[in-house]
Order: sequence, then C-alpha cells, then structure tokens
Amino acid sequence: MNGQTNRAIVMGGSVAGLWTARVLADHFDEVLLLERDSLPDGPETRSGVPQARQYHIMLLRGLQILDDLFPGLRDELIAEGAIPFDIIQDTAVRSRNRWLPQFPSGKVLLSCSRLLLEAGLRRRLRTFDNVRFVENVEVVGLETEAQITRIAGVHVKHLRDGAQPAGSTETLSADFVVDALGRRSPTPEWLTGLGYDAPEVSVVDSFLGYVTRRYRRPENFQASWRMMLIGATPPDDPRGGLIFPEENGVWTVMLAGVNKDYPPTDEAGFDEFARSLGPEFYAAVQATEPISKAYGYRGTDSRRHHYEKLTRWPDRLVVLGDAFCGFNPIYGQGMTVSALSALALGEEIQKAGGNLDGVGQRCLAKFSAITDGAWLLATSSDLEWPGTEGERKGDGLADRFASWYVSQLVGATFYDRTLRLAFVDVTQLVKPATSLFAPGLMLRVFRHAWGPKPRVT
Ligand SMILES: Cc1cc2nc3c(=O)[nH]c(=O)nc-3n(C[C@H](O)[C@H](O)[C@H](O)COP(=O)(O)OP(=O)(O)OC[C@H]3O[C@@H](n4cnc5c(N)ncnc54)[C@H](O)[C@@H]3O)c2cc1C
Repeated sequence: MNGQTNRAIVMGGSVAGLWTARVLADHFDEVLLLERDSLPDGPETRSGVPQARQYHIMLLRGLQILDDLFPGLRDELIAEGAIPFDIIQDTAVRSRNRWLPQFPSGKVLLSCSRLLLEAGLRRRLRTFDNVRFVENVEVVGLETEAQITRIAGVHVKHLRDGAQPAGSTETLSADFVVDALGRRSPTPEWLTGLGYDAPEVSVVDSFLGYVTRRYRRPENFQASWRMMLIGATPPDDPRGGLIFPEENGVWTVMLAGVNKDYPPTDEAGFDEFARSLGPEFYAAVQATEPISKAYGYRGTDSRRHHYEKLTRWPDRLVVLGDAFCGFNPIYGQGMTVSALSALALGEEIQKAGGNLDGVGQRCLAKFSAITDGAWLLATSSDLEWPGTEGERKGDGLADRFASWYVSQLVGATFYDRTLRLAFVDVTQLVKPATSLFAPGLMLRVFRHAWGPKPRVT
C-alpha cells in the first residue's frame, strides 16, 4: 500500500481468519495469521475448533465467495471426495410433518466434512507468498500507540519451543489487526482494560443440542436423495435430524433437539432418538454401520456483540466471524457470514485509499448490517419455540404481518416452486429477506393464503 511495507495481523486461524487473511493478502505486503493450535496439513481435528466434528454446510453464498477467492478449490474438494448436490432435487426434506417435493433447482451445494473444507482453505492460503502462518502462539493482549487511540499490534505468548522458547512473550507490530478468535474472543476484556467500553451482547437461546455420528455409506444404496433432512416443528415437535454424505464413503448422521430435548450420545439413546424421527430416517440409519462414536455439542445460542454501537473505538482494529456474532449453527450461517464480512473489510480498505484510520469502525457498521439478515432468520425461527430465551419480536402491526406472511410463504413452498426457490435464495444468504416481499411473490402468497386450493406450479 503506497509503496510502504505494511503488515496486517489476523488473530485466529479458523474459517473466519482464513477468509480474512485471503482478502487482506490483496492489500498488505505481509499478513500474519496467528493461531494457538498447530494447524494440520490435512483434514484433521484440533482442539481450537471442537465444533469441526459436527455436521457443517457452506451455504450457497459462501460457495460463491469460495469460487471468487480461491478459484478451482471447489474442483479440488470434489476430487478429494466432496459431493455436489442440488439443494432441492437431491434433498429429501420433511418439514411440518410433510415431505417437500424434489425438483431440479440448479442450486448446487457441496457435501463434505468441515475438516476437508478448512484444510482446503488452509492449503490454498499457504500458497500466498505474503501470508505467514504463525502457529502455537496465543494472543494475550493488544498493543496500542501512546495515546491509546490506535492499535499498533498484539502481544503473544509462545506455546511451544521454536524460534522463541515456550512460555516467552513477544509483541508483534501491525498496521491493522483483525479479531477472528471465535465466540470466546477476549476483545471485550481487552477493550475495557484499555479504557474503552465493552459491547452490549444480545443472546437468543433455543437450547438446541447436536449429536453427530459417522457411518459407512451403504453400498449400492438406492434412494431419491443424497441428503435427508427432518425438520423440527414448533411448538410441539422439537426433534430433527440429517443424513449427509461426506468424502471417503461416509454418511454423517446428525440428531438435533430443541428446548433441551438433547439427543443422547449412548448407543441405545441415539438409536431411540433416530427411530423417533420417522421410518424413512430410521430405515436409512439401520441400513448401515457406525464407524465413529457419537459426538455431542451444546452451547448453540445466537450471540451477537454490538461493537457497532460503541462510540469510542480504537483505530486499526476490527472484529469479525463468531467473535462478532455466533449464530445458532442449525442454520449453517457462520462460515458464510464471516466470508461476507471479510469481503466488506476488503472493500472498505480499498475505498480508504491508504488511510486505515476509521476503517475498523466503518467496518463494524457494515458487519452489523450483514449480520442483521442472518440474525433475523435465525432468531425469528428460534423464538417460535416457547422455551427460547431472548428478546421477543415486537408485536406491532408490521411485525405481526411479517411473521404471518413468512409463515404463509413457508406453507406455500410445499406446492409453489417459485416461492420455494425464492425462499431458498434467502436462507442461503444469496438474497436479503426483503426480496420475499417483492410484489410478484406477495401476490402468490396472498393467492395461496386466500385463494382456491393450490396445485403444484
Ligand atoms: C455445532 C456447530 C455446527 C456448526 N455448523 C455450521 C454450518 O453448518 N455452517 C456454517 O457456516 N457454520 C457452522 N457453524 C459455525 C462455524 O463453525 C463458525 O462460524 C466458523 O468456524 C467460523 O468461526 P470463527 O473462525 O469466527 O471462530 P472459530 O471457528 O471458533 O475459530 C477461532 C480460532 O481462534 C483460535 N484462537 C482462539 N483464541 C486464541 C488466542 N487467544 N490466540 C490464538 N488463537 C486463538 C482457535 O484455536 C480457533 O482456531 C457451526 C458451529 C457449531 C458450534
């Protein structure tokens, strides 16, 4: 930038950090990606991302960004065993206790483990000459300039013997610092330690629990689907599940329960829960053999830090990914929202024309706007459960109309392909929720709500 050597630091080497480092590589001479763990070359688990064992899907918008930032990576993942599938044609979905019709939509997702995906992102990022992975370091604080109005770097502790002995600390200077440290990011405490306010936090918790177990995909399995999704139905049916193919001939079976109806991880309990999801789901699970134990996960609340509301903010710092907003994972939004935020950061840096002061605060406002749509989708669904804790929607006329309208629209997706495709675009974060209120779609919804009995269109 402007012919000077300058450096950005990204704290956290998981998916949000990887997207961000890729974007910053276009704007900085050097990008340091700081990570507490050793980052494996291949698709292996590590302690910093315990959720990576659970089922993960990248939404359509996330895949589009993947194609832009890492051209060819999708094909590499497919060569490694990821399975492309049409989100409507290849997915058997039971929702509100009815099966949705399957038809070709042209909207193709990729079915693979989160481990394979993240390993692919890392592999491609390692080919960038100006990106340096600094592993086994824990970020322990922020370095500021004397007036404490600008972040100037970070303090790290070395966790293993290397260029520096284990236990030693070091300050790394930077022109710009990004927090991609995930849900437990210490930035709120670091800010208060520097004399700034901590952000307000909004939490919506439907008390969802996950259990994921891997099975061998049955040989010669014949079905009209590649993925089966059983949706929970508020307010009385809190159970859902998923069968999802991954690389290496694996089927991931995921069980989920809302309202503290947590799926068990023991053999008999897992089996009983799977059976309760209906004969089609249970028969598929019964057709195969488990190849892993069942891994549980709780702590799935949607948790949003309102950094954008802080009036005082140190320059040259920004927060994104789960550290900004962690979503209830059932909606599969986290990786895609962090990709959208990384893109917005790149655009803001580009616009700044070399002056990085103010970029961080402007980005926080942008990230908040990006988060709004996904937050609304996740929390409005979760708040349909009576046991969900969190701020309820307003009960003004507009809110009540929006909630009635979306419920009618979802009901109509069972027989109206146009509405189904429009709804998929919104849940896949390709289009904003406001697109559902386009006049043509509203007419269809009203016709379904008040008109004669529908036929499939
Ligand atoms: C059960 C579950 C299922 C999910 N399913 C989906 C899905 O289907 N689709 C989807 O898009 N998203 C899903 N998500 C969300 C997704 O996992 C995250 O959005 C995604 O990992 C991006 O998060 P992140 O990079 O911001 O933080 P994290 O993934 O939490 O990573 C934080 C990184 O920072 C490192 N770190 C932490 N502290 C320090 C420190 N002090 N110093 C150095 N390094 C540090 C950690 O080791 C880790 O590598 C799911 C989440 C859960 C919990």
